[in-house]
Amino acid sequence: MNIDSIQNGVVIDHITAGQGMKLYHLLKLDDTELSVAIIRNVISRKLGKKDIIKIDADIPLNLDVIAYVDPGATVNIIRNGKLVEKRQMELPLTLTDVLVCKNPRCISSTEQELHHVFRLTDRNEKIYRCIYCETKAGG
Ligand code: ZN
Repeated sequence: MNIDSIQNGVVIDHITAGQGMKLYHLLKLDDTELSVAIIRNVISRKLGKKDIIKIDADIPLNLDVIAYVDPGATVNIIRNGKLVEKRQMELPLTLTDVLVCKNPRCISSTEQELHHVFRLTDRNEKIYRCIYCETKAGG
């Protein structure tokens, strides 16, 4: 992977193959005017196949989203054509406004102003539950 083509931006690497599009949508990159490239099914010695997202802009990203979708991903920050930071992801303890509770009777479904907050309740199984009604996050 050649990251030299980006001067200032972010490269999300080592995404599990097939998760790139999901990440793209959850990071709301489809809403931006930025130059974003998704490279799918790149052959990787470590993962077999992987996806990569390149963002040609130094924008703040919700790292919790990346960590939630794919804790094995790495986030590379590029400045002036050089890799200045490599961040490993770790499952976030809470997720705010990333997931939506699917329980129709949940207070977060009826009260529009409430944030949708989920808490990690099982690290091994990667289970998140709504903090209001304990409903398990699906998908
Ligand atoms: Zn709920």
